[in-house]
Amino acid sequence: MKIQESCLLCGSGFLSERCTVPERACGKGESFKILACPSCGFMATSPQPEGPELAGYYPDGYAPHTASWRGPLFGGKPVRDALKREVFRLWYGYFGGPRGGALEALEKRALGPLRFIWLVPPDFTPGGRLLDVGCGAGEYLAFARDLGWSVVGLEAKAAAAEEARRTFGLDIRAGTLDSLTAADGPFDVVSLWHVLEHVADPDAALKSARRALKPGGYILAGVPNAGCWEAALLGSHWLQWDPPRHLWHFTPDTLAALARRCGLRVADWHTLPGSGDLVVSLQFALRDRGFSWAAALPGWGLLRLLLWPYGWLARARNAGGRLVARLEPL
Ligand SMILES: [Zn+2]
Repeated sequence: MKIQESCLLCGSGFLSERCTVPERACGKGESFKILACPSCGFMATSPQPEGPELAGYYPDGYAPHTASWRGPLFGGKPVRDALKREVFRLWYGYFGGPRGGALEALEKRALGPLRFIWLVPPDFTPGGRLLDVGCGAGEYLAFARDLGWSVVGLEAKAAAAEEARRTFGLDIRAGTLDSLTAADGPFDVVSLWHVLEHVADPDAALKSARRALKPGGYILAGVPNAGCWEAALLGSHWLQWDPPRHLWHFTPDTLAALARRCGLRVADWHTLPGSGDLVVSLQFALRDRGFSWAAALPGWGLLRLLLWPYGWLARARNAGGRLVARLEPL
């Protein structure tokens, strides 16, 4: 285990303790500190397991490594499919792209919030090539392929890679991003969905992703937003601290600072709504206080629905629990 003594982002030698969070997946009764840098705000889990020790904290059945497919791009529900088609046409250029005009501009604005419901696609790029790093069971790759992208996935966990191959017939590789880029690159888009918080060296990961880009290419990155309202409200109970699997904890500002260090700029970013994370965090709060029976009561699904407006309000104030950014080379 490695104790964090200085800030990965700015090098400051002083870190203050934000909270102590129990490990919740392996059941060994361990807990980890979340440390924050007073200078730049970057947060780290401490201590951090390394190498095979870190791999041991990913139990079989770890959710992102198992298929959680939301179904095909268009699922046969006429209204939902029509709305999705319009959002992807107007906002991302698919299906012929925007045709222009004042009415269409109004339609685009009206449909805008629906962008935050579905997986975030890259902009339409004829003949585009996409690399998804840490692709897990392949959900995002299958989604991009259905939108016409030529896709390659990179996944270290053999069981997840095998599931992605078996379920979707995808091209999934092991190895490192740099070795793959040399053989198959470059790419129009490199996606890093919930990767940067898991890797020992997020700086190196972003730099490698940048090297994998074609001129004009960009990175799509998603991380938990440690600057969200529920992290502030629920402290150590927020589920996205998830130590020690989450080694680093980003906010919009610290993700932008890391990007700058890697020769990238945040061209666009937003947070996502979602009451599910809040509900699970509330259950953790009850369990942590010894009220496991309350967390096991029925009705949490209803609470999730009732809290739906909270998620959208947080999103509107850029304080949603998950952060999505488009990073372009400087
Ligand atoms: Zn710092």
